[in-house]
Amino acid sequence: MDARTIADPLPLAKALIACRSITPAEAGVLDVAQAALDRIGFRTRRMKFGEVDNLYARHGDAAPNFCFAGHLDVVPPGDGWRSDPFAPEVRDGLLYGRGAADMKTAIAAMIAAAENFLNGARAKGSISFLITCDEEGRGVDGTKAVLPALAAEGERFDHCLVGEPTSEERVGDMIKNGRRGSLNVVITMTGKQGHVAYPRRAINPVTPLLETLSALKARTLDDGAPGFDPSNLEVTSVDVGNPAHNVIPTQASARLNIRFNMKHTGEDLFGWVKETAEAEAAKAGAGSTLSISSQSTPFYTEPGPFTDLIIGAVREAFGVTPVLATTGGTSDARYIKDYCTVAELGLRNETAHMVDEHCSVDDLRALARCYEAVLRRYFE
Ligand SMILES: [Zn+2]
Repeated sequence: MDARTIADPLPLAKALIACRSITPAEAGVLDVAQAALDRIGFRTRRMKFGEVDNLYARHGDAAPNFCFAGHLDVVPPGDGWRSDPFAPEVRDGLLYGRGAADMKTAIAAMIAAAENFLNGARAKGSISFLITCDEEGRGVDGTKAVLPALAAEGERFDHCLVGEPTSEERVGDMIKNGRRGSLNVVITMTGKQGHVAYPRRAINPVTPLLETLSALKARTLDDGAPGFDPSNLEVTSVDVGNPAHNVIPTQASARLNIRFNMKHTGEDLFGWVKETAEAEAAKAGAGSTLSISSQSTPFYTEPGPFTDLIIGAVREAFGVTPVLATTGGTSDARYIKDYCTVAELGLRNETAHMVDEHCSVDDLRALARCYEAVLRRYFE
């Protein structure tokens, strides 16, 4: 350690956790982050879309612009916590509170990293922060809205690191350089109600629904793609809700989810599901309606200089060599990828969204050193 004061991410992490920013509520959490960034010389501004507040901050004017991104909204705490989820507490070296893993701590580590880096050097370029309060909810008035607004003003991004908790068994063991896409579809078949003893007078919608689902499940979507596992379709619900044994029901519906790699688009997959359902409905004389209940696109960053730079910083700060992975749920990187090269690195995700969410204080401090190493290597 040298003589200058090293910014500690812990007090800021606690101050962020203390705000009840249950998605999409801001609850003062952006004020805390903004004040911290103002204090270390960033130009900060709030960007509100609909009910959602966002924060953009930049230090420097020159290119390249390196961006730290993440969210300060959290999922509802649920019941059964040992301590108040919004009263952060350190017990046995672990910091407890909602957002301690996902991902208020990472934002605190990023800000501490920027402070420590700027304290010792001048960035030959710019450092920026893109912080939203709409990641855990609908995700439409956050990063997705902020990026095109900034682009329209001429703001350019070169590389971005998202602080989602990507680590598994130990901190630093996994970087996400991609995420699968996700498509949720609802299929509804409509037939004609009737007595089971007189099936010719009725049209049973359950039959074409089951035929559709087995046809969908029978297809191998692909054998994987570079960096990705094979795409997969899961039927998540089949709903008829028919209490009678002797009645053919009018309607039957099913829900399914497809997690897909770069070999597909949500549009193509939906088209295939729709065609399959319509063909089976036609065979049975039933009607079909389909809808997309939610959809997100995949992203993939080719392993190269940017991922190598992050891997080097992880080795330096944590002493482990991370793997690149594309597993897990979606993140805002799916929007950022349209503007610059993006990857994700953060704390362990073991307790994210759980009761008694926590992280190791040592890991948090090491993460701040890791992010600082990323900046140093980036601007070297
Ligand atoms: Zn998150």
